[in-house]
Amino acid sequence: MAFHELHERLCPTCGHRISATAPKCFNCGAYVNDEDDDGDDEPRGRRPIFMLASAVVAAVIYIAALVYLLNP
Ligand SMILES: [Zn+2]
Repeated sequence: MAFHELHERLCPTCGHRISATAPKCFNCGAYVNDEDDDGDDEPRGRRPIFMLASAVVAAVIYIAALVYLLNP
């Protein structure tokens, strides 16, 4: 992906090329919501679930290690 493609996107209303950081299209004035576009941001709610899953995996590994050490 080229550099400019990370910083520009097309207005969903009129198709005009606008800055990726612009809150609204300066061509037609439509507000731009970036949640459905470039995929750089994770959807809300995924990260807490990921952290919980990581904690569970870490706990399982920790318990398995304890069991192994206590029962050689
Ligand atoms: Zn527009």
